[in-house]
Amino acid sequence: MSDQLFDQFKTWYEKRHDYARDWKQRTGGQVVATMCTYTPEELLIAADMLPVRVLGAHEPQNVSEPHIFGMFCPFCRDSLAQGLLGRFDYCEGVTLTQSCIQYRQAFGSWRMHVPTVQWDYYCPMPNDVQSPHAKKAHYGEIGRFREFLEQLTGKKLTDEKLNEALEVVNENRRLLRELFEYRKATDPQVTGVEALLAGLTAQFIDKREHNAELKKVLAALPKRNLDRPEGIRFMTIGSENDDVAFMAMVESVGSTIVIDDQCSGTRYFWNEAKLNGDPVKAIADRYCDRPACPTKDYPDHTRFDHVLSLAKDYKAQAAVFLQQKFCDPHEGDYPDLKRHLESNGIPTLFLEFDITNPIGPFRIRIEAFLETLREDDLF
Ligand code: SF4
Repeated sequence: MSDQLFDQFKTWYEKRHDYARDWKQRTGGQVVATMCTYTPEELLIAADMLPVRVLGAHEPQNVSEPHIFGMFCPFCRDSLAQGLLGRFDYCEGVTLTQSCIQYRQAFGSWRMHVPTVQWDYYCPMPNDVQSPHAKKAHYGEIGRFREFLEQLTGKKLTDEKLNEALEVVNENRRLLRELFEYRKATDPQVTGVEALLAGLTAQFIDKREHNAELKKVLAALPKRNLDRPEGIRFMTIGSENDDVAFMAMVESVGSTIVIDDQCSGTRYFWNEAKLNGDPVKAIADRYCDRPACPTKDYPDHTRFDHVLSLAKDYKAQAAVFLQQKFCDPHEGDYPDLKRHLESNGIPTLFLEFDITNPIGPFRIRIEAFLETLREDDLF
């Protein structure tokens, strides 16, 4: 039985634009639309801004086609559509840190065609984070972003301000990891939907408020009794996924999502920045060291073993790939990652996501997969 423990995260998720408008009114700060989880949010927070990650709305739209191709990934098209439709009209700025070419195009169109954008910043982070020069190069880029924000606001972004922001963001990462720990248990007291809501809202709610809410939830969790059998334990793998209705459906048919490797989940918050006296270095190193997105995972595929160890640590019995249609980086990884998981005893299912996802047909696929897993006597 569910209780109201995660209701604040649900409300924030559903009313995220209202929250940002309200935040702006009560603080007088700027709100910045951020694209990609490689955005060094610490700099924006130190500049008293609210970073708000651009997410889609999963509604049919017909506004992005004149600007980007229909064969660009649905997440890019949905993100651009949200800007063109004025849903982020409270954001003064928009920023992207280099990830994939499709998202860069969405960012380019956003900054040119969303009329409320007053400033934009592109942070050219190296994709080859394994190069011995990557951290030094990114150190330079973080420094340039810092200077840009200082010029924009007319205020010095002191080391003290940056260290303060680093502490707040690190605390958020730590609390989310604590919350995710509960998912390791048998019949976990945190569902996949609840974990998704907590992880996603961290990407657009003021981190101090988010931390306070996480602490409240963590204090109540030891006494929680969901009385909910876990069924088959799933892992989800892919890029962005905030389709709560899909996740809820998966968990309604005899399974629990216990862990993920997605940028809407663990990849966003898994590693902390190591404070070392130089906040710019701590920020630059943290983003180079984080669990890699496929766009930043070569020549070695570090994420294959990382994904497998997550699956093992959280006792996932099977994995579901949630593939954004036309997403080349994730499609490129898929065959080898599938092989890697299956040869290590984790069966997989592949589903292709679009802007809107057909819950009915997907339910049949998930149920059939569960059936196969049980018939194969795996569980
Ligand atoms: S990595 Fe894939 S899903 Fe993410 S923006 Fe690029 S193409 Fe789209």
